[in-house]
Amino acid sequence: MGHYCRICGRTRPNEKFSGKGHKNHICKECNQKPKSEVKEIEQEEEIFNFVNQSNISNKNIKRLEKLVNSNNERIAELANIVLEVAKVKPHKKRRLKVLAKDHKELLEKLEETGLIVAHHI
Ligand SMILES: [Zn+2]
Repeated sequence: MGHYCRICGRTRPNEKFSGKGHKNHICKECNQKPKSEVKEIEQEEEIFNFVNQSNISNKNIKRLEKLVNSNNERIAELANIVLEVAKVKPHKKRRLKVLAKDHKELLEKLEETGLIVAHHI
């Protein structure tokens, strides 16, 4: 039986986790990574989750508005795209159709960044 590391996404043997790492689902190896790197992975996951949800809530939008100001370029970019999507079509249902019809550039950005994958999960 292994344990899932939410940073590297691997299921690893229990001895690869410290007590605290177990609780936080971070393996020892990932725990050695710079904080900024771990934070980027966490925030990226957070943004992908918003796309996957059936609805991007006002609370999510507030969070995205914060992430848009991230010093991390990729996070800021992803947050900006999802924020735009949330303004156009917060509900997942029919979102791609609406984007394809009236917001082609936004749909292209979803494809370029891989965010589209989260939509289909
Ligand atoms: Zn790991």
